[in-house]
Amino acid sequence: MFTSSTIIEPFRVKVVEPLPRPTREDRCRQLAAARLNLFSIPAEAVTIDLMTDSGTSAMSQEQWASMMRGDESYAGARSYYRFRDVVRDLTGMHHVIPVHQGRAAEKILFTLVGGPGKVVPANTHFDTTRANVEHSGAEALDLVIAEGLQPQAEHPFKGNVDVPLLDSLLAEQKQRVPLVVVTITNNSGGGQPVSLENLKQVRACCDKHGVPLFLDCARFAENAWFIRQREAGQAGRDPADIAHEIFRLADGAWMSAKKDGFGNIGGFLAVKDDELAAGCRNMLILTEGFPTYGGLAGRDLEALATGLGEVLEVDYLCYRIASTEYVWRRLDEAGVPLLRPAGGHAVYLDARAFLPGIPPGQLPGQSISIALYLESAVRACEIGTVMFGRTLANGEQEPGPMDLVRLAIPRRVYTQSHMDYVVEAVCYVYAERARLGGLRIIDEPEALRHFTCGFEPLGWDPLR
Ligand SMILES: *Cc1c(COP(=O)(O)O)cnc(C)c1O
Repeated sequence: MFTSSTIIEPFRVKVVEPLPRPTREDRCRQLAAARLNLFSIPAEAVTIDLMTDSGTSAMSQEQWASMMRGDESYAGARSYYRFRDVVRDLTGMHHVIPVHQGRAAEKILFTLVGGPGKVVPANTHFDTTRANVEHSGAEALDLVIAEGLQPQAEHPFKGNVDVPLLDSLLAEQKQRVPLVVVTITNNSGGGQPVSLENLKQVRACCDKHGVPLFLDCARFAENAWFIRQREAGQAGRDPADIAHEIFRLADGAWMSAKKDGFGNIGGFLAVKDDELAAGCRNMLILTEGFPTYGGLAGRDLEALATGLGEVLEVDYLCYRIASTEYVWRRLDEAGVPLLRPAGGHAVYLDARAFLPGIPPGQLPGQSISIALYLESAVRACEIGTVMFGRTLANGEQEPGPMDLVRLAIPRRVYTQSHMDYVVEAVCYVYAERARLGGLRIIDEPEALRHFTCGFEPLGWDPLR
């Protein structure tokens, strides 16, 4: 019988979109105009866009067909009820509040439960989560296990919460903690999963202290797959079954459905508590829209309802995780310093090991991202001191916990040859790394500075 070790894309292509092929001269001009910030570069000047896996999925024929069935009624649209039932079934949570994307759920939730004097612990807060917690006046605390902060350490579940640390925080100041957040998978910590065992321990700890547990579940399906792959006793289990068990450990969840929802836009906030749900709906009406559409079109709700089922298919998840690992393995074999092991949605370069001569305060991850774009028109995203550090009163940078460059892989979009091109480009930049230098930030807004700040090289020419 024929068997193959090649894991193929479980789809074929029906519609094609041409790839932009800017010249090196174009790229130079774009970088100069963008003040070296890749968020300011038009997508038309990017060949392979690995800036994010958010909202960049290719939708399936079933999703497009669902969109034609979208009910655009203002209140009580059929598409809302379909979406609500899918999310209820997935999460076991009664109240399902659609939002236009994950941060809208964060804004609503932390406006209600955050505020000065509060502390919100998580394994690692994603950038928008941290910003929304802090914007409310509360403190965002990261309590990921020690291995989760060591890029080179090997651990199957580097997204796990340090439960003893959480326990002592709650023992000392639970009255300040409105809820505990677990991000699955841990995006800012390298797309690393959280084990079922760890989630159960966090649940027990929350129960012990009477504090609710919320999931930031943008990549719940990828997390479920890692549990199936890596956790004792979970091999071969239906990913949907694992996902159901995960959600039933929590009191609430919010999702950027632009990730594992296969949506180009959308998200939800789901909670069990009636009073909290009522408060959230009131905020939603104020900022997002009526509770049965939450800032989305009926057709968006349809696409998500379909996508949330597709994302749990075994063939898809097998391909998804294998294709990320493929890129990781090829770069690892070439000696490029990586965060270990491969994440679910992305491969992360370890910028401090990649450029040991450039201190974190001089933004090594940004320097690599700029070089990668200049040389190959591949766009990556710095997840390090630019994103999570801050400028101190003396003008120096307080470094982020790690300096990473994230190559996020959009779902069902690029083929293996696209990824081979990316691998070659990263290897080239690594070989030429001695030419790279440090950077400083020249102007920055108060929150989420990485989206809009500018950069200046420190005594070298990044565009040479
Ligand atoms: C993307 C993301 C968010 C924010 O969602 P948006 O849809 O971008 O607003 C929050 N948390 C995690 C873990 C994410 O990956």
